[in-house]
This record gives sequence, C-alpha cells and structure tokens, in this order.
Amino acid sequence: MLRSAGCTLVTAASIGAAARSLSSEAITRYDAIVVGLGAHGSACLYHLARWGCKVLGLDRFNSISNTRASHHGQTRITRMAYKEGPEYVPLLRKSFEMYRALERETQQKLYWQTGCVNIGEPLFSAARATAVDQHLPHEVLTARQANDRFPGLQLPPHVPVLYEAAGGIVEPEKLIQAHVLRAWYHGAHVKTGETVLDWSPLPDGGVRVTTDCSTYHADKLVISSGAWMDQMVPELKGLTVPGRATVAWFQPSAPQLFHHSRFPVFLLQDEQQGDPFYGFPEFGRFPGVKIGKFCVSAPQCDPDSLDRAMAVEDTEPLEAALRRHMPKAHGEVLNFAACMFTMTPDGHFVIDTHPRHPQVVICSACSGHGFKLSPAIGYVLADMVRHEGVCKEFDAQMQIHRLNRSRPGHGAVLDRFEQPQQPQQQQQQQAVVSS
Ligand SMILES: Cc1cc2nc3c(=O)[nH]c(=O)nc-3n(C[C@H](O)[C@H](O)[C@H](O)COP(=O)(O)OP(=O)(O)OC[C@H]3O[C@@H](n4cnc5c(N)ncnc54)[C@H](O)[C@@H]3O)c2cc1C
Repeated sequence: MLRSAGCTLVTAASIGAAARSLSSEAITRYDAIVVGLGAHGSACLYHLARWGCKVLGLDRFNSISNTRASHHGQTRITRMAYKEGPEYVPLLRKSFEMYRALERETQQKLYWQTGCVNIGEPLFSAARATAVDQHLPHEVLTARQANDRFPGLQLPPHVPVLYEAAGGIVEPEKLIQAHVLRAWYHGAHVKTGETVLDWSPLPDGGVRVTTDCSTYHADKLVISSGAWMDQMVPELKGLTVPGRATVAWFQPSAPQLFHHSRFPVFLLQDEQQGDPFYGFPEFGRFPGVKIGKFCVSAPQCDPDSLDRAMAVEDTEPLEAALRRHMPKAHGEVLNFAACMFTMTPDGHFVIDTHPRHPQVVICSACSGHGFKLSPAIGYVLADMVRHEGVCKEFDAQMQIHRLNRSRPGHGAVLDRFEQPQQPQQQQQQQAVVSS
C-alpha cells in the first residue's frame, strides 16, 4: 500500500530519523515531477521539457512503456466522431495535429489512417450526433453498403453504420517512447524502475516526493499513475476504479479481407450482448484480428496482482461477436492480453488540481478511451502546471473532467478531501522543512 499526504502514519522517532538523514544529503529540486510515464505522463513530460521546465519523470517499471499498466498491446483506436460527446473534439483535433508533429520530430509513423466504423445502436446515433455537431466528415451506411465496402463484415440488414475516414490506429508503445525520447532531448530527467512511495506538501508551497530509491523536491507534481491512481491519492478510492480488461487476436480464415489497408477499426454493438466491442484489422507484429469488450462493468482488480491468464469467459463473448458480425475473422486465438481500464462512474476523466494542494495536478484519463487523447491531455496537464491549474486553451472542454459534486461519485470524494489533515502530517512537513 502506498502512502500519500492523505494517509501517512509516522511516529515522532521516524520523523526525527528522516529529518537527520535528509539533512545529510542534497535533495534535487525540480520545477515539476511527473509520476507515471504512461500515456499522459509521458506527454506531459514532453511538453514541460519543451517549454524549458526542469522536470523529472518517474515510472515504477523498468522500461519506457510497459506491459503491466494500461497502454500495451500495440494498437489503440483513434477517432473524431466521438460517441462520448462533442466536448472531446477540440482535444481530438489537437491530438491528431500532434501525432503528425511527433511523427515529423521522430521520423517515424505513429498514426495509421484505416477509417473507423461505428456499428449498431446506440453507438451509431451517438457518433453521428458528434459528427453533425462538430461538422466532421462522415458517411452513414446501411448494413449492405458497409458489407459491400468491407467484405470482412457480414452485418444483419437493419444495423446502421457510421463510417469516419479519419479514424485509425495509434501505436501506444511508440507514442509513449517518442514523447519520452523528445522530452529527454529537451533536458528532462527520466528514471524508470523507481516507484513513488509517498508525496507530501512542503510549507514553501512545493512538494516532496519519496521513491524506493531517493527523495526529490519540486514546485509542482503531476500524478498520472493510471490504475494506481487511488494508491497515490487515496481520497479518489471508489471514483477511479481499476478493472480487468481483456483483448484477443483471432486468426481470420480470409486474412486478405482484414488487412489494415482494407479493413477499418471498429466499434460494435452486438444486440445480444450488453457492453460494446472494439477492434482492429490485422496490423503490425501481432498477427490476427484484435477484439476486446469495452467492459463498463469490468470486475474490479488490484493492479499489483492482475489475473493475466486467459479464461474461457474472456474469449467467449469476443468469439460470439465475431461469429455474428465478421465470421471470416473468427478462428483460433493467436494471442491474448489482460490490461486495466480505470473507470469513473460517468466515463469521463478526472483531471484537476488536488483540492487541498493546488501545486498537485491529478490525471485519471482512462475509462477505456483515453489513449488517443494523450498528446492533448499531456499538453493540458503541462499548461495546468504553468498556469495555476488552468489550461485556458481548453478550459471549456476540461469542465466535464473536473472534480464536481454534480458528477456521480464525486460528492463522497470531495467530502474526503475536505476533511482536516492529520496532525502527524503537519509534523512530518516540519521535519522535512528543517532539513
Ligand atoms: C485493453 C485496453 C484497450 C484500450 N483501448 C483504447 C483505445 O482503443 N483507444 C483509446 O484511446 N484508449 C484505449 N484504452 C485506454 C488507454 O490505454 C488508457 O486511457 C491510457 O493508457 C491511460 O493512460 P495513463 O497515463 O492514465 O495510464 P498508463 O498508461 O497505465 O500509465 C500509468 C503509468 O504510471 C506508472 N505508475 C503507477 N504507479 C506508479 C508509482 N507509484 N510510481 C511510479 N510510476 C507509477 C505505471 O507504471 C504506468 O506506466 C484502452 C485501455 C485498455 C486497458
């Protein structure tokens, strides 16, 4: 269990010992520290470094991008006709611009335009509402038109389809690595294999960060620890909830129909199953058609002991969806991965300053759909660091992601943030300052 300013328990003796040991070592002070170099932390690090901040990025795992958090698996869908709401579109436009900019900077392809089909209700109507509201190019197809255009599909006749040519694939590991690499070129310090154990505010308005290797001070702290969010900020427990999400790659019987040059990424509502599905054409180094269930009601999991083994219950719903809508994609399971969604009750993100400590920015931007937005969200986080928690350019769009009593589940969390601090924490801060 990690400790934060909200729950640290220390004794007077340990405070004295900590103060003595700290006084004997010089603690490096940064403008900002970013905890978690996944999708959003890596992008935030990049922007801060680009703007000349002295910044440190920390990740618990021993590599830039890893297979233990929420960003592995080689592909993430990107799209603009956003069923989650038109408020996302300005951030999506920014992200699309930035995929291209980062491609130019790093001389590699990060975004592959395959087109995206939104199949069935309510996906179709929600995507169309955003497309119309935001004047996005799109086509409404009948099932027959969709089946003709993409012969890998065999949709029942009454199913509506929205096709968006801009949709496609972003490569998550490569995007994260590109952000970190460019941050590093701009002078960021990067440490992997270093777990943040604790953070606490300093009386001078800064933050102290303790890892399993060292201690750092900074003016600002960004916490983008993904599925570990509520371990770093325990007040968020019950609001940002990690859940197990699985995907599998199936061997198509007609592979030529599913190559990414001919088949789009897809969102699919199977009328016979509750939560929708999403998937990818054959792409990259993992062969097969990849499909996952968007588990709104995913079983809650502990990110430190996620069950990564494949079970029949994982693949059965995926197989059923393929059999009914793209039977030639349904074959042997070639590959399987378990990952984590960090869900909020309304599916929007939690991006805000810490209610008690405005020098701390918190970012939980998952709910299963955050990756594509990471270049823009990283930009927003970095701007919040520079401008007292506000990113003017996207202030209107960020309102749905702020802590707010009118959002489901936020009242209890805000009550927790409003509880007075424990006296031990104040003592601890004094000890740190006297060092
Ligand atoms: C199966 C699956 C499919 C998805 N599909 C899509 C999709 O198609 N399109 C899309 O847009 N989004 C998709 N998403 C969502 C997207 O991947 C996530 O929204 C995104 O990865 C969340 O980014 P993050 O930075 O919050 O977390 P992560 O990317 O998980 O990064 C968090 C980082 O914090 C580090 N960390 C945690 N605790 C500590 C600590 N104490 N000290 C140091 N480091 C720490 C972790 O090691 C990790 O690297 C999918 C997610 C899953 C699981």
